Amino acid sequence: MNNIEFDKQHIWHPYTSALNPLPCYEVESASGVMLKLADGRELVDGMSSWWAAVHGYNHPVLNDAAKNQIDKMSHVMFGGITHQPAITLCKQLLDIAPSGLERVFLADSGSVSVEVAMKMALQYWACQGNSAKHKFVTLRNGYHGDTFNAMSVCDPVNGMHSLFNKVLPHQLFAPAPQTRFDQVWNEDDIAPLEDLISQHHNDIAALILEPIVQGAGGMRMYHKEYLRRARQLCDDYQILLICDEIATGFGRTGKLFACDHAQISPDILCLGKALTGGYLTLAATLCTEDVAVGVCQGEPGVFMHGPTYMGNPLACAVASASVGLIQQGQWQQQVPAIEQQLKVELAPCLSLPAVADVRVLGAIGVVECRAAVDVASIQKRFVESGVWIRPFGKLVYIMPPYVITSEQLTQLTDAIYRALA
Ligand SMILES: *Cc1c(COP(=O)(O)O)cnc(C)c1O
Repeated sequence: MNNIEFDKQHIWHPYTSALNPLPCYEVESASGVMLKLADGRELVDGMSSWWAAVHGYNHPVLNDAAKNQIDKMSHVMFGGITHQPAITLCKQLLDIAPSGLERVFLADSGSVSVEVAMKMALQYWACQGNSAKHKFVTLRNGYHGDTFNAMSVCDPVNGMHSLFNKVLPHQLFAPAPQTRFDQVWNEDDIAPLEDLISQHHNDIAALILEPIVQGAGGMRMYHKEYLRRARQLCDDYQILLICDEIATGFGRTGKLFACDHAQISPDILCLGKALTGGYLTLAATLCTEDVAVGVCQGEPGVFMHGPTYMGNPLACAVASASVGLIQQGQWQQQVPAIEQQLKVELAPCLSLPAVADVRVLGAIGVVECRAAVDVASIQKRFVESGVWIRPFGKLVYIMPPYVITSEQLTQLTDAIYRALA
């Protein structure tokens, strides 16, 4: 049995059928912005391995960080033990995070960091004797991960809540924000969230949302005033604000964090994906001193979570190197340049009959089609054009590594236009 055949018969892939999986391409190595297939073909990567590989693959600085750390220790338990890679990384995160965030919980994946954030919010209210505040309010078209509580705040339709209806906690959903990032703010946009919160605030522990860009739930980019008003509503009604910046963090939207567009700070912040520059799985949940104090007052006095691989030194060392590259600031030229080029080069797609909408923010370009695309056939066309782009549903979208050249970016935008024409 060859590799592809074995894979097809025995290995699950994300969101695929075990019985009738979509075709897979075997990647042998990756460097810079290029993925090299086992058959020798090379593809310009448009996905950054799902938002993660912002500095490109096989990066010398990240490689060195991993190699140096692996000779010291790959892992050691975090219970009762600490280490330099975790300390350095957490210092960096607190330096760059929106103001007011003082405490860091290291988790092993984005979904787990969301679970941790939700647990913190519940424990915060329970510890002040207010366990009536046990629900979450969120926005339709959101995505927060695949574990059960994270799933409960994903879009009910995209997230297929009907399938798990009996076991999923039932949360409160406001409509997705309608005013686009670049439109004039429409005051009506915040009214449904305001109504929901004013009716149910006694039951609500926290509002959880993806600031400015809703990712896997629809690739929507909404107005910063919505985020400002959401922060204000949380303050007015004593609700914690959880911002999930797992996709948007570290410069992707043109600001270091998407919260910075609205100049707000959440009470709890989730980071992941680009945290390690795409090398290893690691996420972080940051919170304010107020949340930390609230969680640890009264019984049981400790926060009830502690993954086996918490604070993995290898992941922390690479993350620290990756955040170090972000702190050097080249993304501040790279991301706006990608944004300008995406705006110019994706605009012609709007005139194609198959295309319903084109939108760009930071280093994110989205072409929304009128109907769901046939992933297997369009993927094959993309690979034949020398690019790696993975559409889902009606969305053909790219978020390339920040180090992409303008010629490579043109290869991506050209391939999208030609595939949809
Ligand atoms: C990817 C993502 C998650 C889940 O992260 P995993 O590491 O895949 O568990 C949660 N929230 C957002 C906004 C994401 O983009």
